[in-house]
Amino acid sequence: MGKDVEEFENKLSSFFERPVACVVNGTAALHLSLEAIGVSFGDEVIVPSLTYIGSFQSISASRAKPVPCVVDSETLTIDLNSAEKLLTPNTKAIMPVHYSGGVGALDEVYLFAKKYNLRVIEDAAHAFGTSYKNNRIGSVGDISCFSFDGIKNITSGEGGCIVTGDIEIINKVRDARLLGVEKDTQKRYSGERSWNFKVSSQGYRYHMSNIMASIGIVQLEKFHELSKKRQSLAKYYDKLLREINYIKRINHNYDQVVPHIYTIRIQGTNKRDSIRESLLKKGIETGVHYFPNHHLDFYKNTAKKPLPITDRIYSELITLPLHPDLKEAEIDFIVHELIEEINK
Ligand SMILES: *Cc1c(COP(=O)(O)O)cnc(C)c1O
Repeated sequence: MGKDVEEFENKLSSFFERPVACVVNGTAALHLSLEAIGVSFGDEVIVPSLTYIGSFQSISASRAKPVPCVVDSETLTIDLNSAEKLLTPNTKAIMPVHYSGGVGALDEVYLFAKKYNLRVIEDAAHAFGTSYKNNRIGSVGDISCFSFDGIKNITSGEGGCIVTGDIEIINKVRDARLLGVEKDTQKRYSGERSWNFKVSSQGYRYHMSNIMASIGIVQLEKFHELSKKRQSLAKYYDKLLREINYIKRINHNYDQVVPHIYTIRIQGTNKRDSIRESLLKKGIETGVHYFPNHHLDFYKNTAKKPLPITDRIYSELITLPLHPDLKEAEIDFIVHELIEEINK
């Protein structure tokens, strides 16, 4: 970690108009954010069950308890009415997940957090470049965490970052990502090593390498083009899938949302799995985002009560191919085959 990481951070800082700390991946970004706000043993963090396992693992890594919540069935983002029922005196933070790139009613998340004195750590791994009410995600709010994994809106091969206006958090993260070695970030940016150093808190080897940063810098330069492609492909899917029986789309405004995935729900058929199998045989690989975390062995005791809405939504989800090299003709094919399978 040295000059390239500094340059990538500076460029991201201009992009978000806020301080940024780069780390080894998005899960590490969440973990360090949680520890930086003081989340620890005995604390609870409310998070949608319908998310990537990284969100949950980051919370349990900080020794707190992830409290799985239901999502709103239109946006698939956290449902605050349900979240309210999960509050206890131990609730320290809420982690909204910007599912597929959309953020739901993010203003309400902040009102909720203010009302109950909670910190907000946005899992914005899907939402790099998305705007909400004309503000870029990360440029406002408490703490936003992004991932630069190979399939995300931009990539550094592997990587992630924390964006916040809270400079104390950024400083804590800057030490914690380098094994807790105080002020090691500044030394590395000026090409020095730390031989005499202070460590006064738990740290991790979570820094970003120059190799990753240099990939990230080039990706950021291409972001405008990459995001336009993602948005126009998602709009094209929307156009073809608008009034198809059994299919429910997520209603995003793709002038504001930069989609990481294009997910639909197949309702009233119970055929999701067989549809996926048939599509795969035709060369169309699909995904399921996500298996609800509260059904995983490690988290099976975290749900305070059953989450039937989440279970039903899960059984309907199919993620269709979406990446910047996809062609409209390929989407025509995907949609044609999908509709044929649904109607079988
Ligand atoms: C990708 C992702 C993460 C974690 O990012 P990594 O860089 O893979 O560690 C966290 N949350 C969600 C919702 C993600 O999609």
